Amino acid sequence: ADVELRSVGPCQYEIACRAGTGMRVPARIFADEELLGQIRRDRSISQLVNVTTLPGIVDAALGMPDMHEGYGFPVGGVAATRLPDGAISPGGIGFDINCGVRLLVSDLRGEDVTPSLEALVHEMSRSVPAGYGRHGRLALTRDEMDRVLGDGCPYLVREHGLGRPEELALIESGGVIAGADPSQVSERAKRRGEDQLGTLGGGNHFIEVQVVDAIFDERAARAFRLFSGQVTVLVHTGSRGLGHQVCTDHVKLMDEALHRYGITVPDRQLACVPFSSPEGRSYFGAMCAAMNFAFCNRQVIAQRARDVFRRVLHDRPGAELRLVYDVAHNTAKVERHGDRTLCVHRKGATRAFGPSSGEIPAAYRGVGQPVLIPGSMGTASYVLAGTDEADALSFSSTCHGAGRAMSRGAAKRRVQGHVLRKELLARGIVVRCPSNQELAEEAPLAYKDVDRVVDVVHRAGIARKVARLRPIGVVKG
Ligand code: 5GP
Ligand code: MN
Ligand code: MN
Repeated sequence: ADVELRSVGPCQYEIACRAGTGMRVPARIFADEELLGQIRRDRSISQLVNVTTLPGIVDAALGMPDMHEGYGFPVGGVAATRLPDGAISPGGIGFDINCGVRLLVSDLRGEDVTPSLEALVHEMSRSVPAGYGRHGRLALTRDEMDRVLGDGCPYLVREHGLGRPEELALIESGGVIAGADPSQVSERAKRRGEDQLGTLGGGNHFIEVQVVDAIFDERAARAFRLFSGQVTVLVHTGSRGLGHQVCTDHVKLMDEALHRYGITVPDRQLACVPFSSPEGRSYFGAMCAAMNFAFCNRQVIAQRARDVFRRVLHDRPGAELRLVYDVAHNTAKVERHGDRTLCVHRKGATRAFGPSSGEIPAAYRGVGQPVLIPGSMGTASYVLAGTDEADALSFSSTCHGAGRAMSRGAAKRRVQGHVLRKELLARGIVVRCPSNQELAEEAPLAYKDVDRVVDVVHRAGIARKVARLRPIGVVKG
């Protein structure tokens, strides 16, 4: 896009709201010159400009430094609409509803697990199926499915013993979204999900064994119980086929309904309806239910990872995995910002509440919500903390990853999976992936520079750097 971007603050660029274009607010991007250059290579900036036309949108449509092209909205996009009548758009949440990240930590150091690394990764890949045709998943009866959809992680913990009660506070929203309405989730969506709890799914979903290799903020690291050299486990997955079907179902319904509300959008993929309309309520209820499914999916996977650590490391002291936090990066949530109640769409963007938020775990008050940023299987990942300033700057949102720099196809043309596997192994990184082709699509060079992305959000003040993690074992979905 050759639109004019004006620098408006540290690492902030703005596209002014132009008359006659349908824009209701400006578009603002958090980036530096280098990342802007990469972002300009796909259609994500024009997609962000399209987002500014959504009915009820306030302040600005926001792009994060990891932004890239997505379905309707860019991945790495944030849009807040005024309730009750502002729009809700499934494209602003994405197909993988509540895709997100969970961080677990041990009390072991990297060298303690090196001799067992192959076994850890192998056992992890056996007990957490990537997708089809393997054991490890949790099959749900229809009643159980409705409880998962309606009651989220507290149900799994209290009635299935999957996890500890005290961990629930360490999951965004306690692992259960109050607005969930399982009756709005179609039979087809429920069928797609019934044997998928505890599965990673393909693509860039993963379980990764890592080592803390830098601490930037001692006080926050202490609060999150992170120390230099520590072994950590990061889980990245979402709501699997169930969430995908919820999105598909409701995009179709909204596409048929939007004209009834006098809404026109510049791209059909931005189909939306007023939040308070019957179609809006139905989607929101189903979407929240899919969020609960995804929280439960990460909950089951975390339990499997915990069992594997215990088993492979023979109950050695320190091998017990503790939850640091679980945070979503594909959602819409009803939140208060200033004196307004808003529907905040975050698609490939992470909620990042600051130290003074009353909605973060008591243990993290005064520090900020942990924000988990995966990088790639061959580079770093980060733990950040939310800031109070982000409330005004970004509706308390920040980036969600490094973000793609090239398409899967382009990555496959440039990288050979078996070569990459050897290169990673030579650097001490053990990788399990169903195919060499999928491995190539996920090559580190397919992603933007995560160090740069994280520096941008830190400098812009929408999150603070706490710790850097380096991968040693990766199970890809
Ligand atoms: P997404 O939610 O957009 O599917 O992916 C989030 C981010 O995960 C990507 O932008 C990328 O930076 C990161 N990522 C993808 N594969 C891996 C991996 O194998 N390991 C780690 N640590 N990060 C990854
Ligand atoms: Mn996902
Ligand atoms: Mn994701």
